Amino acid sequence: MQVTKAAEAATHGTPSPLQMEAINALAKAALTPEQVYVFSLRLCDDQMDRDFERFDPAALPELARLFRGKTGVVDHQWRAEKQIARIFETQVLQEDGASYIRAWAYMRRGGENDQIIADIEAGIKKEVSVGCAMGRAVCSICGSDYGSCGHQKGECYDGQMCCAILREPMDAYEFSFVAVPAQREAGVLKAAGNGDVTLKTLAERFGAQREYRELKALAELGKQYQKQLQDSVVRLGLALDLGAPEPVLRSIAAGAKAEDLTVLKTALEERLAESMPLTRQLGGTPAREEGLESGFLI
Ligand SMILES: [Zn+2]
Repeated sequence: MQVTKAAEAATHGTPSPLQMEAINALAKAALTPEQVYVFSLRLCDDQMDRDFERFDPAALPELARLFRGKTGVVDHQWRAEKQIARIFETQVLQEDGASYIRAWAYMRRGGENDQIIADIEAGIKKEVSVGCAMGRAVCSICGSDYGSCGHQKGECYDGQMCCAILREPMDAYEFSFVAVPAQREAGVLKAAGNGDVTLKTLAERFGAQREYRELKALAELGKQYQKQLQDSVVRLGLALDLGAPEPVLRSIAAGAKAEDLTVLKTALEERLAESMPLTRQLGGTPAREEGLESGFLI
């Protein structure tokens, strides 16, 4: 599967002699330290991200190897002349209990690149999008291949948040600098254009999961209320002996709006209340009275 993640560029500046060796091993023409700007990138880590995914720490060394030599582009321009930076070194590091890939990249100073360097220094091009291909994603709850077990990432099971653990790195792709606001907009437009965007996806992407879950819970309550209304109307209809069989009443109730069902329920309840004293007066049959009472059981 193709995976795209946000990474972060950290400013650095002039390369060390050791870094120059690694850079010149990749560069077509020998470069001097003055010609080169070096910065570092935090690529992938083993912490759960906003897609409720994380990389298996065991996959990071291989992924780090695959990223070596990969180029960086600006704003998803995948043309060769826009390849402005290149990763010349990667390491797997540990920090605050997290494992992550630290990459070092260089770019040539001068011309248009100077503006990009200034943007990186200013933090405008701090966010970087990285892509890779992973062979497997497994469920963090049960260890099955994700998607085969029914656990949903982002949902909690016995207090444990489910996420997909990405394993078996297969390939790493170019990375791209993205001005943060531009990328967010582009992301929305792209998703909307594909026609397959869901509210859940948008909530995950923009960190609105909590609000999404609250709304979802409210919607569930609404659904339950609608179902109760339908059941009430069907039972009232049967109790009143309207003459229509239950499946017909159920089908009508299922297609009705909640407002209409509320009005109908009230009307049927009034009708039933009117018919009850009459039934009593006439000394109605016990069987019918039982039927009436069960009609109220919801
Ligand atoms: Zn599972």
